[in-house]
Amino acid sequence: MFMSSPAEWHVDLLEIAQKCVYCGYCSLCPTFKELKWETYHPRGILEQIRMYFSEGVKESVQVEVSKSLFEAIFACTMCKACENICLVDLPLLKVWEQVRQEAFRKGRWNPLLLSLYNKVKSTHNIYGLPTEERLAWANLAGMNMSRRTKKKAPLAFFVGCQASYSGKMGNVAPSVVKILRKTKVNFTILGLDEWCCGSPVFLAGGYSAGRDFAKHNLDQLKELGVERIVTACSGCYRAFKIVYPRVLGEKWDIEVLHITELAEELIKNGKLKLKHSIKEKITFKDPCELVRHCGLVEAPREVIKQIPNVRFEELPSNKHEALCCGGGGLLKLNDSDLVNQVNSRLVSEIKYTEAEIVANGCPTCKDTILTGVKNDNLDVEVLDISELIVRAMEGEK
Ligand code: SF4
Ligand code: SF4
Repeated sequence: MFMSSPAEWHVDLLEIAQKCVYCGYCSLCPTFKELKWETYHPRGILEQIRMYFSEGVKESVQVEVSKSLFEAIFACTMCKACENICLVDLPLLKVWEQVRQEAFRKGRWNPLLLSLYNKVKSTHNIYGLPTEERLAWANLAGMNMSRRTKKKAPLAFFVGCQASYSGKMGNVAPSVVKILRKTKVNFTILGLDEWCCGSPVFLAGGYSAGRDFAKHNLDQLKELGVERIVTACSGCYRAFKIVYPRVLGEKWDIEVLHITELAEELIKNGKLKLKHSIKEKITFKDPCELVRHCGLVEAPREVIKQIPNVRFEELPSNKHEALCCGGGGLLKLNDSDLVNQVNSRLVSEIKYTEAEIVANGCPTCKDTILTGVKNDNLDVEVLDISELIVRAMEGEK
């Protein structure tokens, strides 16, 4: 069945909705801050869930409530800010995911979302592009990666769809490879055998459907004898770290690292040296999936600190309180204007720091921030942290 949650993720929606104490702490929701209607407020969504799922509710009422409920649930960026601050610790992300499943059951996904799902399922990437193009990033960067595929190694670089196929992310994967080569890490890649991590399917609430992606990728990694994987994508990181063990219901001992964690380790053991100073002032945008979903806070900062003479300034909202860029939760498929609105608050914070480089650890954030700074005519360079590391490692711009 496409739509169901792993047993331990399944929650009683009505019971949780009834536990909300209306404190309003979750008013920091980025969607509510922009749209300002109570129906988009996390506690407002819970109120609609109460109405929708109450026993004996009339069908006509359910149909009426579902209109605003499903609209609100797909206006959510899945940033986890509400759950992070909830006074009574409600597992809100699980609730939002289950409501997305209910929308699917009722045939209420928008066509773009359905189309993405079908593309991912049939082509195993988010763009619906041919598998043969999955190594386009290496060809464009003039890197011959063929000897790396099918190669047994203790560490695998999981590239992810955006870094593999998207022109805007063209430098991300080559940067990771440069770091691995320079530090002589013995690594492999899945190459044409890599499938989408399944993140878009999981974000839509499709845990059962996403299981195929988890199983495929994990089988490939096991075949190559991989003990650790590294990725520069926060969505892939969350999928491997949190979602795969649960959807597969099995313990597996492959360690999952974000590139910042590996870089921090390589710096500590003296293999990675960031010798070149970067004169531009730097700030860092914490991706929601790294910081709130997975609790990864310090590694990016530890790495940036190692850049000689670095001028670093935190964004006003940082770490667990970081603002969402607006690009998460598949919002781009549902309301691109809202993405821009949410993003403009982040751009204002970037402006406030007077940073000349905004680094981040997620292709979705990078893509969204690139659009935001362009819309705002802000003169700031948007870099993935792997690109920043290479710049400090090689001294090139
Ligand atoms: S996850 Fe983020 S966008 Fe969604 S309801 Fe919570 S705070 Fe709002
Ligand atoms: S923070 Fe939690 S308890 Fe308070 S209004 Fe929001 S969902 Fe309800």
